[in-house]
Amino acid sequence: MHFHRRGHGYGNSGLHNPNLISRHIMNEKPLVGISKCLLGFKVRYDGGHKLDHYIHDVFGKYVEFIPVCPEVECGMSVPREAMHLTDESGEIRLKTQRTGIDLSEQMFSWTKKKIRELTTSSLCGYILKAKSPSCGLSKVKVYKKGVFEKSDRGVFANHLISSFPLLPIEDEGRLHDSEIRENFIERVFIVHRWHRLLEEKKMLSNLMTFHAQHKYLIMSHSPKLLKELGAYIATAKKTNTLKVYQSYYSRLCDALSLIATVSKNTNVLMHISGYFRNNLTPDEKAELLEIIDNYHNHLVPLIVPVTLINHYVRKYQPVYLEHQYYLHPHPMELMLRNHV
Ligand code: SF4
Repeated sequence: MHFHRRGHGYGNSGLHNPNLISRHIMNEKPLVGISKCLLGFKVRYDGGHKLDHYIHDVFGKYVEFIPVCPEVECGMSVPREAMHLTDESGEIRLKTQRTGIDLSEQMFSWTKKKIRELTTSSLCGYILKAKSPSCGLSKVKVYKKGVFEKSDRGVFANHLISSFPLLPIEDEGRLHDSEIRENFIERVFIVHRWHRLLEEKKMLSNLMTFHAQHKYLIMSHSPKLLKELGAYIATAKKTNTLKVYQSYYSRLCDALSLIATVSKNTNVLMHISGYFRNNLTPDEKAELLEIIDNYHNHLVPLIVPVTLINHYVRKYQPVYLEHQYYLHPHPMELMLRNHV
């Protein structure tokens, strides 16, 4: 597990088959904000924690966490009285459950400061503790006059999401779903590369390279938005590069928020297999198509066709594919594509 410290490298872990792409992101790990109790810190109201082993032991090797406990950091003690959300004339308040003390203002004023602080770091994602009245991403119970009324977000989560509308944000419960987890982690690494891009001189040519290297990744989420992004860059004016970057990024995030389904991945794999048209023997072509078909029919996970394609990339070195993040979206050790 790593906490927020600048300048850490991937060490010996990270992408197999290092190439230009992995060297580009080797200097620093993505920064990911996280509800502190998920890392095993005993900060919960009852003095306990909610350690999540996958996040802490596996994902934690490849990112630097910024652990945040809104309740403790805004001045509450451990242990403390449990809290819940209440609806007071249409306004959501954070109150202690038994004694009814309203702690909303204490939480709001700390949250404002914390969000300002987080804005200055290059956050690549955030993992929240599900169902908490402070950290919950959704489905947090709201009570009116002691009776369950509806579900909403926790108060800190609500401010976080509205302050970082483009940031990948999930809760640990949703991350148990393999598709959601793959999507979240893939986006974290894309945002990380985006931050690296912003450190370079803002030039349309740099943005075009970024786009080209992510072409098949974006296609796996939305062929339609890939086309639109390509057309946008191709016609973008050089006069206001910053605005072009901002607009591109916002559209990119829209595309990436759509889940890469089996049929969208199959489409990408078919496009990529076209690069080996002149290299493969009829037998090899048939085998590749059969494996893609098996993936399409849910008989094998995505890692199977991708591994075979990477084998052909190493063998035949088609320049365009060597630089495609679709084939190396995140460290292989996370084994994300073994489950989707
Ligand atoms: S859910 Fe959030 S506020 Fe509650 S203990 Fe965990 S980090 Fe702290």
